[in-house]
Amino acid sequence: MKRQSTQPSLAALDHQYLWHPFTQMKEWVEEDPIIIERGEGVYLFDTHGKRYLDGTSSIWVNIHGHQHPIIDQAIRRQLKNIAHSTMLGLSSPPAILLAQKLVEITPPGLTRVFYSDDGSTAVEVALKMALQYWAQVKPALKRKRKFIHLSHAYHGDTIGGMSVSGQELFHAPFHAILFDSHHIPHPHCYRCPLDLKFPSCHIDCLTPLETLFKKKHKEIAGLVIEPMVQAVAGLIPSPPGYLKRIRDLCTRFNVLLIADEVATGFGRTGRMFACEHEDVSPDLMAISKGLTGGYLPLAATLATEKIYEAFLGEYGDWKTFFHGHSYTGNPLGCAAALANIEIFAKESTLQKLKKKITFLSAQLDRLRTEPFVGDIRQIGFMVGIELVKDKKTKTPFLLTDRIGNQVTKECQKRGLLIRPIGNVLVLLPPLSVNTRELKKMMAILEQSIRSIQN
Ligand SMILES: *Cc1c(COP(=O)(O)O)cnc(C)c1O
Repeated sequence: MKRQSTQPSLAALDHQYLWHPFTQMKEWVEEDPIIIERGEGVYLFDTHGKRYLDGTSSIWVNIHGHQHPIIDQAIRRQLKNIAHSTMLGLSSPPAILLAQKLVEITPPGLTRVFYSDDGSTAVEVALKMALQYWAQVKPALKRKRKFIHLSHAYHGDTIGGMSVSGQELFHAPFHAILFDSHHIPHPHCYRCPLDLKFPSCHIDCLTPLETLFKKKHKEIAGLVIEPMVQAVAGLIPSPPGYLKRIRDLCTRFNVLLIADEVATGFGRTGRMFACEHEDVSPDLMAISKGLTGGYLPLAATLATEKIYEAFLGEYGDWKTFFHGHSYTGNPLGCAAALANIEIFAKESTLQKLKKKITFLSAQLDRLRTEPFVGDIRQIGFMVGIELVKDKKTKTPFLLTDRIGNQVTKECQKRGLLIRPIGNVLVLLPPLSVNTRELKKMMAILEQSIRSIQN
């Protein structure tokens, strides 16, 4: 049916009614938005029928492409039974079967699955579990009430998530109500604050953590980390061995290791979970983004049996974990997640990914000679390209130069959707992308970077 010309357009309605996340709305209403109507494989189609490559996996969530028949069918099948029932006092087949699967595929030692709805809540749950654990474990260590996080970390937008993050720009207005958390310098090999080089540095940047542990471990409940790579910080990988050393230090000083695998989980780094790169088992683990293959909001916090057991007791002991959300363990989401995991086996997703990662590395290498490309950071299918004003001195562009934004606008024109983080261009294609599509993405990226040099 043709829309009557007297009716306002979708763009006008968007401008009138919506408030978009992480968006300066004053600027937003100055241009017509891209309105995505449909997706197929790695492509998105807007209301004008223009086709785009989904270079962000719809903000880091999509795994096997849009409209994957197996996930589509799993959701339809579940919908024939029921869309939602509660986990409070009841259970559901998809929630049970998914929990079993998650315990199977996550690092050894994690045996219990607690559902929530998004990455921030999964982290929030982990923090609360850690605190309550130390209060209830025998013998209780009630002084363990503080957390440690890495500078520039990102663990979500809720109060707890922000409190253990190091995103000054995002969190400045809320400082007054965030809780105190220790932070340690993050490893950043391109801009090493110690001016050292890996491996001769012997990961010296971990010394402050060891010092802090020695002094304060009796007050520390847990250390929160994005394993292997700090994503929102600008795709900053940690040097080999870093995560393993963190695990060892946590064990030595009796501190819970909380792995935030919200961005890295489900094959994103080339392994099912980033912790696997260094054979690390965390005590608590948060997952969300890729969990449903990018279909529905769902999250989980996994815990060890030891942590779980500290919450057992008589009813009146009040050891219960008093936490839960309305849509916790949503059956449609769990059905989608089961199908997502099934596809990994059926399509040998991780096996096929290996070649694609190598192909992508080779494509990326060609960008290294571009004048503004300061650093290219890649771990699996997570890529950050840092643009700098001066390659020799690594002088950054001013954030207000909006260099990342300029490049992504050029990409948009050419049919590739990506979103920058400051001066870092971030590319995270769906794992299902083929080499032809990858090549196309890289060609557009190259042209777009060149176009702003002129
Ligand atoms: C995205 C992200 C979160 C927050 O997840 P939401 O689903 O956006 O709440 C937390 N931690 C990491 C590492 C993330 O990348």
